[in-house]
This record gives sequence, structure tokens and C-alpha cells, in this order.
Amino acid sequence: MTPLMHAAYKGKADMCRLLLQHGADVNCNQHEYGYTALMFAGLSGKTDITSMMLDAGAEIDLVNSVGRTAAQMAAFVGQHDCVTVINNFFSRARLEYYTRPQGVDTEPMLPPRLAGPLHKIIMTTNLNPVKIVLLVKEEPALVDPWALQKCSRVMELLCEQCVQQQDMNEVLAMKMHYLGCVLNKCLSFLQNREDKLDSLLRSLLRGRDSDGFPQYQEKFIRDCIRKFPYCETNLLQELVRSIAPVEIGNDPTAFAVLSQALTGQMAFVEGDYCVTCGEKGADKRCSLCKAVVYCSLACQKLHWFTHKKMCGSMQDQDAKAQDTPKLIKQSKADQFIYMITNISHYNNPIIKCDFW
Ligand SMILES: [Zn+2]
Ligand SMILES: [Zn+2]
Repeated sequence: MTPLMHAAYKGKADMCRLLLQHGADVNCNQHEYGYTALMFAGLSGKTDITSMMLDAGAEIDLVNSVGRTAAQMAAFVGQHDCVTVINNFFSRARLEYYTRPQGVDTEPMLPPRLAGPLHKIIMTTNLNPVKIVLLVKEEPALVDPWALQKCSRVMELLCEQCVQQQDMNEVLAMKMHYLGCVLNKCLSFLQNREDKLDSLLRSLLRGRDSDGFPQYQEKFIRDCIRKFPYCETNLLQELVRSIAPVEIGNDPTAFAVLSQALTGQMAFVEGDYCVTCGEKGADKRCSLCKAVVYCSLACQKLHWFTHKKMCGSMQDQDAKAQDTPKLIKQSKADQFIYMITNISHYNNPIIKCDFW
């Protein structure tokens, strides 16, 4: 066992960093049972150390003496957060392949200057479409129809690659497909709408009159999932089965189901997610209704055009809730957890993708 393996297993992040800085081999598997430092990081349940190993170039496909990868070992001991980190990791080098002309092409598929901004989007674990559009908006190089066209084509190829590789990664394939769909949506708004990405953000956030539910966003995410080109994959079958019976506006939302499947995060259960962009750890409450929470003032401003229609009635609800025992307030979240944890039906017969 190398010092790096030992430090990873014991969860000593500082020691791991120091050893890596001094040239420790992250892929060394000279261990009795062929374990690597990434496997030990996954077993320890430390997501920061798992990310550190991946950033340092740890191979995710290496197997131990009984043929198990790091993700499989972490899953076996119930370290699901580490599994998410490993399964969502996508090396910059793999993306940079597309920045070099291939075969008879004279131009690369992806202009090198777009690799950084696109990689940032690929690595996001917050899949809220508003967040992804905001990430695009932050990168001037991406706010350009030509650049978005290139990027969404690369996402399509990456999706295909994830399905066709030897150890098929359905989760990453779905993520690539979904991100590609959001980029395509950005492209169509850039080309066809006067106020461009701002009007896409407003469409995604606008709540319907009856209850403020953002139905455009819900339909958009359902549509993205439905367009996943590999109908026979278990993941798609499971997503369709979970979402199709749910009436638009009810829980679980397509976003919650997709997010749970791709990142393992229980979206919106703990109530500290920004209602605009889905960022975790939001702590700025609407001062009037106290019913919605934002990660920043910018997100609150972005949401106000639609929230102002509901804010008044939410204030009334808040007043009533003051008198309601906590147990009852909790019940909706419990119901949601129940629904989301009962969505595994891998053995059910294949159902058609055009279910809704
Ligand atoms: Zn936010
Ligand atoms: Zn409010």
C-alpha cells in the first residue's frame, strides 16, 4: 500500500494533496489486490479526495484483482456520493480530442478556445436548465450561434461515445445528451428571439397562472429525456416510467427525477435549493412571503417577474402554516422521497419511449 493509498483511505485530504504535488503516482496499483488510490478514496466516502484523485489523472476504468472498478467498489459499500463524483467525471483531455482535426478534416470539431467553457458545463452537477443557461451566458465565447452549434455537435458525439464504449456509461450519456439539448435551446433563442438568452431564462422560470408551476421548464426537460436516442437503455426506461404517470405540476418533477438519476442528489427535499437556478445552500428568503429561497440577489431579481404573481397568496399560506404542526408540513417531502426511492423497476418489460 503506497502512502497515497493510505492517506486516501484515511480521508487525509492535505496529505493526499502534498503527496500528489510531490509526484505520487495516482494510478499505481502495486497493491496486494490491485487497488488504486481512487478505489481507496471511494471506499473512504470522501468526495473531495475522490475529486482530487480524478483531477490528478486517476483512471476510472482500472479494476482490482476481482475485476471491480472504483465506482463499483464505492457503490458496494454504500458511498453513493463518491459514485456520483466518479460517474460524472469527464477528463478535459477526453474533450480536447475534439480540438484537433481528425482524419481527413482540416478543421477541428471544437475550436480549442471553446474547450474550457464547454468542460465547465460538462462538469456541473447542478442540472437545472436555468443554471446551465446562466453558465452559457457567463462565457462570451459561447454566446454565439456558431460556437453553440459546434458545442452541441460535440455533445452528441460524446453521448454516442458513452453508449458505445466497452463499459457503457448510461448516466454520462444521458447527461451529455441533456446538456446538448440545453445548448441547442440556447442556440434557437439566440437565433430567433430579440432578447436572446434572457427570454429563454424567462420562459424557463415563468409560472403558470393557477399555481406558479414552471410548466415550460417541465415540458422542456421531459422533451429532452424523450429525445434520448438510445431507447433500449435501462436508464431511459426507468426515467420514462417515473415521469410519464405524473401530471404536469405534481411531484416528482422531471428535473427532480433526472437530477436524482444523474447525480444521486435528492433535489428540493431539504428546501435549501435556489428556486431560480437550483444551486444548493441558498439562504436568501423572499422577505415578503418567506416561502421561496434564493442563492443570490441576482437570482431573486430574475425570478421576481413571475414570483410577484404568487408572492401574495404565499404570504397567506405562510401565515396559516405558522399554526400547523411541523409533522404535516413535512408530509409532502416524505411523500416525495417515497416516490423517488421507489422508481427502480429494472425488470419491467420495455415500454415505448414516446410514452407522453
Ligand atoms: Zn440561484
Ligand atoms: Zn415572495
